[in-house]
Amino acid sequence: MSETVNVAEIFGKNVFNEAVMKERLPKSVFKKLKKTIEDGAELDPTIAEVVAQAMKEWAIEHGATHYSHWFQPLTGVTAEKHDSFISVPDSEGRVLMEFSGKELIKGESDASSFPSGGLRATFEARGYTAWDCTSPAFLREDAIGVTLCIPTAFCSYTGEALDQKTPLLRSMQVINDQSLRILRLFGNTRAKRVCPSVGPEQEYFLVDRAKYLQRKDLIYAGRTLFGAMPPKGQELEDHYFGAIRERIGSYMKEVNEVLWTLGVTAKTQHNEAAPAQHELAPIYDQANLAVDHNQMVMETLKKVAGRHGLTCLLHEKPFAGVNGSGKHNNWSLVSDDGVNLLSPGDTPHENIQFLLVLACILKAVDVHADLLRESAADVGNDHRLGANEAPPAIISVFLGEQLEDVIDQLCSTGEATHSKRGGTLRTGVATLPDLDIDATDRNRTSPLAFTNNKFEFRMVGSSDSVASPNVVLNTIVAEAFKEAADELEQAEDFDTAVHDLIKRLLQEHKRIIFNGNGYSQAWVEEAKKRGLPNLSCMVEAIPALTTDKAVKLFEGFGVFTRSELLSRAEVEYEAYSKVINIEAQTMINMAGKQIIPAVIRYTTQLANSLSSVKNACPEADTSVQQELLVETSALLSDMKVALAALTDLADVCAGMSDGKERAHAYREKVVPAMEALRKPADALEMIVDKDMWPFPSYGDLMFEV
Ligand code: ADP
Ligand code: MG
Repeated sequence: MSETVNVAEIFGKNVFNEAVMKERLPKSVFKKLKKTIEDGAELDPTIAEVVAQAMKEWAIEHGATHYSHWFQPLTGVTAEKHDSFISVPDSEGRVLMEFSGKELIKGESDASSFPSGGLRATFEARGYTAWDCTSPAFLREDAIGVTLCIPTAFCSYTGEALDQKTPLLRSMQVINDQSLRILRLFGNTRAKRVCPSVGPEQEYFLVDRAKYLQRKDLIYAGRTLFGAMPPKGQELEDHYFGAIRERIGSYMKEVNEVLWTLGVTAKTQHNEAAPAQHELAPIYDQANLAVDHNQMVMETLKKVAGRHGLTCLLHEKPFAGVNGSGKHNNWSLVSDDGVNLLSPGDTPHENIQFLLVLACILKAVDVHADLLRESAADVGNDHRLGANEAPPAIISVFLGEQLEDVIDQLCSTGEATHSKRGGTLRTGVATLPDLDIDATDRNRTSPLAFTNNKFEFRMVGSSDSVASPNVVLNTIVAEAFKEAADELEQAEDFDTAVHDLIKRLLQEHKRIIFNGNGYSQAWVEEAKKRGLPNLSCMVEAIPALTTDKAVKLFEGFGVFTRSELLSRAEVEYEAYSKVINIEAQTMINMAGKQIIPAVIRYTTQLANSLSSVKNACPEADTSVQQELLVETSALLSDMKVALAALTDLADVCAGMSDGKERAHAYREKVVPAMEALRKPADALEMIVDKDMWPFPSYGDLMFEV
């Protein structure tokens, strides 16, 4: 038996959390800091010095040698630069441990080395990281030692956001302001703050590290670019929720322990649908913490894998032919007096506040479906969204039977008089308890599903930050709340006005509701009739960021300026082209240096065998060798042609200067050329002697972990 852990004891042990601050900070400083954290009050710079000293002492007591501003540039991963605490040695050569308030609050970083979409030229490269005191500092323990990590926002010299966090924090302020207006309309004077709650469910694959290292595609692209399907995929549905194997179990145990010490509430773990696929979900938390914690989850999944001889693949589609990985983003709005604005209660038809909130969300999603779709766009996710996998690229909302019925009542008669109720599940076995069941079943195909008291946005890719989807959700819902509050605050008869508004919003936006099968072709056609956008890939989704509608929305609320939006669009086109180019170059490399030489060795062996058998025994039947030789040689020549075509096209694209045109060219020319190269290669893998194939197969990777 492995050693047991006391979760309560280790939980948050590496976090400079409220308990630690309370214990180590003077009362007045603690109070001021708490006010900033909880009420969004401006940070008093004079307290920084005191906080920095307390943080330093705490960190050093726990073995820290370095500190680092930890931030989230537009690369999708986190960035950090480490500084040790040591001071300039004194005349006797001794050093002190130093960390000032200034070092806590502000860091400087070369902004031109991070994606900035033209916001930062190399000659004006200053960028700053600024302490985000709403997300607690933490200690990371790894081979480097112990590092004090300070969550920060990252901005340019002129104040433009260069990261994921700044707009997220801005959008949280915005949704807070507008949600409070809605609560006040319904007589709630207690609530002081409304915060989006987020629970991201993280899917991932694990493969054996030694095998991973034999595959250039996994190393460079994070996904397989070649690979024939093994005899078994996920069709037996025996992996989902299956018993967790020992090797994976010991990995999960360590992941949980690391996360718990970091204050991340790792809660659920299970095997997912595809072989070698798993999931980890934390308990939901306020949006900015959830986003930071999800980055810590991804880092930890990768880091711990190495210690177990494994590699964690966070890519959205590591293997063709089996499910890819996503990150369901569960989202709700919770006030500091404990009201979840998305909680329908037992009788939603009577819950007018909930119905208004719901109607506003439907409007927000309908009006800004393109933005929401865009927020989940990343290169890997193109293999999921709109590619016959969960979920489709068309945004729609699943509400379930109960709410749909209430909406039907409201839209048809103007009154909702009843809510369908859940029943009791009877198993027919006397010894089993009867179970209460929900009023609504699930729908696994919907991109945005209402589940009990939250919306589950299922489009986000497994490797992506959940910041942008939440920036979009917060801001678009804030806009709908604002428009509703503007109207209702002026109403003479509130009850009638709110009733009419709900009905009007539902009627105007109910086209976004779809409870059927989101994977069917019929839905694609139906959605088209309803006028819903179908942005099937990343390059088609990016323009949503810079429409007049988007600029008005984001500038209006101060979440993004126009130039920040333009720069983000540019960063995304650029990222698209770069990723596809890396994939294409990796394929060219593997095809030219590994697959083709292996196939030539195999055909040579076949040819030798053919002639030696013939020589030894002229009557022997050599038709098998002959046929294989013909078939293999034909595929080999197909491969060579496809390889040359891909090489040429990739060269042409790389030389294009306009970012948007280049991304489109990669999508429309290079991606099909990559598929054309893969096809004969995968066919050859099925023929060529396994011992001669130059890298591990899908079966080796997925079933022999
Ligand atoms: P489900 O079975 O509906 O997917 P789970 O309990 O598995 O729900 O939760 C999935 C994720 O949603 C978890 O991370 C959970 O903490 C989170 N979650 C639950 N309730 C809320 C809420 N009100 N707001 C945001 N996230 C939530
Ligand atoms: Mg879920």
